[in-house]
This record gives sequence, structure tokens and C-alpha cells, in this order.
Amino acid sequence: MLTIRDLTKPQLEGKRVYVRVDFNVPQTNGVIRDTSRIQAALPTLRYLLKDGARVILMSHLGKIDWKEPDPAKIAAMKQANDMTPVAAVLQKFIPHNKVHFSPATSGPDLKAAVDALLNGEVLLVQNTRYEKGEEKNDPALAAEWASLADVFVMDAFGSAHRAHASTVGVPTVMKTQGKPVAEGYLMIREVENLTHCVRPTDQDRPYIAVLGGLKVSDKIKVIDTLLTKCDEILIGGAMAYTFQKALGLKVGNSPVEDDQLAYAKKCLDDAKGKIILPVDSIITNSFDPKPDRLIQTIKGDIPDGFEGVDIGPETAVLFKAEIAKAHLLFWNGPMGVFEQPEFQAGTKAICDGVRAIKGKAFTVCGGGDSASAVKEFGYSKDFSHVSTGGGASLELIENDGHLPGVDVLQ
Ligand code: ADP
Ligand code: MG
Repeated sequence: MLTIRDLTKPQLEGKRVYVRVDFNVPQTNGVIRDTSRIQAALPTLRYLLKDGARVILMSHLGKIDWKEPDPAKIAAMKQANDMTPVAAVLQKFIPHNKVHFSPATSGPDLKAAVDALLNGEVLLVQNTRYEKGEEKNDPALAAEWASLADVFVMDAFGSAHRAHASTVGVPTVMKTQGKPVAEGYLMIREVENLTHCVRPTDQDRPYIAVLGGLKVSDKIKVIDTLLTKCDEILIGGAMAYTFQKALGLKVGNSPVEDDQLAYAKKCLDDAKGKIILPVDSIITNSFDPKPDRLIQTIKGDIPDGFEGVDIGPETAVLFKAEIAKAHLLFWNGPMGVFEQPEFQAGTKAICDGVRAIKGKAFTVCGGGDSASAVKEFGYSKDFSHVSTGGGASLELIENDGHLPGVDVLQ
């Protein structure tokens, strides 16, 4: 696979380089609340710009439902997901390179904006999802975008699990035209570190996975893949209750997926002791912090009217002791309702466990909510890698290292 490091100055100077970035930033009324996705693309941009490339940046932002029949509603969705504010923020990060913005996502106006670019300048194009053909990977759209550039660089790891026109269609066309197609710096890091978790070596033993979060159904493929790779899987979060119910425990009002009980049972049988479940839980009768609400630690059956909201203190000790043995660790899914301070302890215990093996083990956290918990609690530096990929990081694990937006670069 070609990487950005293989692209030399003669391949870049004065050349039009199409870079698919992930600028899907959270914003409120045109104010960007978190610029980390923009910053994550800077190493790739700086590399291209220092060699005099003319950079065309493409990204989606939010959702536009093209099945909506009312044009006024489409227009409102477009307005809510307008990329214009992103250009201003990007310009502040690269003050020495002019950032232009193209409101046109196709047609002669986009072509004219690309033609007007000078060496070392950037053109940020409006939200790719303004095009109806983007999510359908429309071949005509992909061909038009591909015709605008001489080189393709993929740096949108968070979108690499989607075979859309801007992620997969364009490099597919450009490859047939003999144009270079390469991975950017963000992609290199993400793919390398996450692939490590599906290609464990002998030195990585014991390999321990920690899984949590809300739904078993979201994670079946991850569990199945990791069972073939790991020595042990620690399961917490809401999904643990589906496994416990499958074992015959009472789980009160805990969020259980009854249609997954058979899967959970089979999974536990097949795992032959590899899966470790919580031995105690934090339970509550209310999420509402009213004065008379009850929060308790419990072992065994959970009474009706209560639900499990975090792993208990004994489980935290147990899980930390298991984590201490790991040479490779993959973690996805919070251990409890970490959004509420009362139910954060379990998730923080996993973070502490990882901190304790820093430098001795290779540790990776993947998944949108898990990564935000790590960040929010201040443990980012304790992990070898915290993926920015959200759903893409999980799909890479599920698919044994494969994603459409990665495979197309081969
Ligand atoms: P990720 O985005 O990292 O893959 P998920 O989306 O699967 O993680 O799960 C995150 C969500 O799971 C969080 O919103 C958290 O509140 C919720 N959660 C974890 N444990 C519980 C629980 N016991 N009861 C209800 N929700 C839970
Ligand atoms: Mg999530």
C-alpha cells in the first residue's frame, strides 16, 4: 500500500491532490465545539503543502436524508450541515497557506475553483452529502470528482467503513487512470494500531479484550472475532446483563436484549471460560438524581424496580487484576452509564488498569463513547492508541482488518 511518505516533491509540486478528510465536527449555530478532527488532518496537509501541492479537501458533515420528499426539509438539513465555518477554523491552523471554500460540490463552479488554486493553497469543498449520489457511490459523481485531481490521499479513517463516492468511488476510478492513491498519516496510525489487535503475535500473550456498552446486538461480530484472537474477554456495561440473564440470574429492570439470550448462551458455551462476567453491580431505581433515589452495590440477583448501571467495586478489582497480566489489550464499550458521575467508577477502573500497564503492554481503545470517556477522564496518554474512528474502528476489528476505504488503497 502506498503511503503519503512515498509521495515525493515531483509527484506533489503543482499537482492537484484530492484528500478525503473527516471534518465531521460537532457544531452549534455555526460554532464548532470541538476542532480535534480538523487538527488530526494537519500532519497530512502540512506534508502536502510544504511540497507545493494544490490540495482539494472533501468531507461529509452530519446527515442529509435524501429520501425526504419535502425540498424545504432537505434545504434545512443542508443548512444545518454547512461546512463554511470549517474553512475559517482550518485557515487559523494553517495561516501561511490560503484556504478557499467552494460552495459548489460539482459542476463548472467546482472545476473553476480547482483550476484557480495556486501551489500551496487549499480548497475546502462543501459537504459531500450535498450530493445525492455520494452515499450511493454514484459512478458519474465519482468520475467527476476523480477528474479534478492527479493524486488521491485517504485520511478519513472515521469514514473508511463506508463505501461512498468520496471514500471508495474516487480512488477506484483514479487507480484505473494510473494516478497515485495513498494513505495519509492519520490512516497509517489507525490502521496499523487497530490491525495489531487482529494480528496478535506470540509476544502479545496474554491478549485481553474488555467489552462493554449498551447492546450485545451491536457487538456480536466483535465478540465473535475477538474470541478467536484473545485469551480472555472481560464483559461489563449493559451488555453484561444479557449474558447474566442467559445464565439464569435475575436482572431486574436492567437493559436486556431478550432476542440475544440464545446467542449469549451459545457464546458462553463456545468460549469455554474465556469470558469473564461481573461478580457485582451498581444498581439504582432511578436515573433522576432525586433525593430519595437508591444506589446500591449488589451480588447475584437484581431486584425488580432496580437496574444495573455500572460494574461493582469487586468486579473493578477483578478486572484490574486481569488487565495487569495483559501484553495486548483492546477495549471497547464503557462499563457503566459513564455520562453520570455516580456511575463512572467502573469505566475509570478500566482506565486505571490500563495506566498501570503503560509501557509494558500495547493498549488500544476503540469506539465513539469509549474514546470520549478516556478523553474526558484524562487517560488519553495512558493508552498506546485511542482510535478517532468510532464505528470504523469496531468494523475493522469485526472484519479482521478489512474496511472498504482501506482495501481500495491496496
Ligand atoms: P462505543 O461507542 O464505545 O462503542 P457503545 O455505544 O456500545 O460504546 O455504548 C456506550 C453507551 O453504553 C453509553 O452511552 C453508556 O451510558 C451505555 N451504558 C453502559 N453501561 C450501561 C448500563 N449498565 N445501562 C445503561 N447504559 C449503559
Ligand atoms: Mg456509541
